[in-house]
Amino acid sequence: MILPEFLSRELTAQYPPQTVEEIMQGYGAVRPVSFRVNPLRAPREQTLRSLSEEGIAQEGVRWYQDAFVTRDTEQTLKNTRAYRSGAIYLQSLSSMLPPLALGAEAGESVLDMTAAPGGKTTQIAALTAGRALITACEKDGGRFSRLAYNVEKQGAPRVTLLRCDAALLDDFFRFDKILLDAPCSGSGTLRADERVKITEKTLLGCMKTQTALARKAWRLLKKGGVLVYSTCSILEKENGNVLKGILNNADAEILPLDFPAEIPVFPRSDGAVCVKPSAFFEGFFVAKIRKKG
Ligand code: SAM
Repeated sequence: MILPEFLSRELTAQYPPQTVEEIMQGYGAVRPVSFRVNPLRAPREQTLRSLSEEGIAQEGVRWYQDAFVTRDTEQTLKNTRAYRSGAIYLQSLSSMLPPLALGAEAGESVLDMTAAPGGKTTQIAALTAGRALITACEKDGGRFSRLAYNVEKQGAPRVTLLRCDAALLDDFFRFDKILLDAPCSGSGTLRADERVKITEKTLLGCMKTQTALARKAWRLLKKGGVLVYSTCSILEKENGNVLKGILNNADAEILPLDFPAEIPVFPRSDGAVCVKPSAFFEGFFVAKIRKKG
């Protein structure tokens, strides 16, 4: 697999050669299809039974009762009754981590700042049994339609959809929990069988947006509230650097994350987690920060 020169440079500046080698192997891995069972649509056991009846062999993961992997193809899953009714949602395992880290609870006001196509919005709704008050923002028109479609299809209640630039949200709003699953280079999700589209310009643009959205997230967070910042990138410029900016706020404190041992991560000492691209996981960054008060 050939990476754009700037990306090779970024990776080799950040990681030792052996780790870059592991990252390249991770990019080359053919991961099984994963999905989330959506209890808002049907009880878990009923959905699993329905999938089995249609010949889908699935296996659960230890760290999340709604997450499953299968050796069947995406298209096979899309042809099932469970998929058509919204009782399952195709989602990478790594992408299920930020809502778990957020830990939203019933009755809380939750902002999902950059929400389309809605995987994490609907997961937060499912995790709170539809009892959190979720505001989901999306700037892009086409992607906003996809978000609206998925929220409806998944039967996620109490979700207010806003088609807007989240960086321009009124400072009047306050939320108990905020998920900023920021637009990023996608450097954690590259695959050997796909052309790499990231350019240096894209990366710089993402960094600028990430910083602006993180600033806004901090203003909108209640005292005592929690912000989860995540990306599907493994570049510190989009991860640790943005996190440092957030932690520069005098009232910010990191809440260290500790993911189960079967999730492969890069070693780091700041309490955030960066998942390694590997046989089951895409590269993903997750940090949890609390606003003191
Ligand atoms: N959280 C989503 C999910 O789990 O399905 C994935 C989000 S994706 C990584 C980032 C999204 O942010 C894209 O849909 C992009 O259009 C949107 N976006 C980018 N800049 C934005 C902004 N300033 N305000 C709101 N949304 C934005």
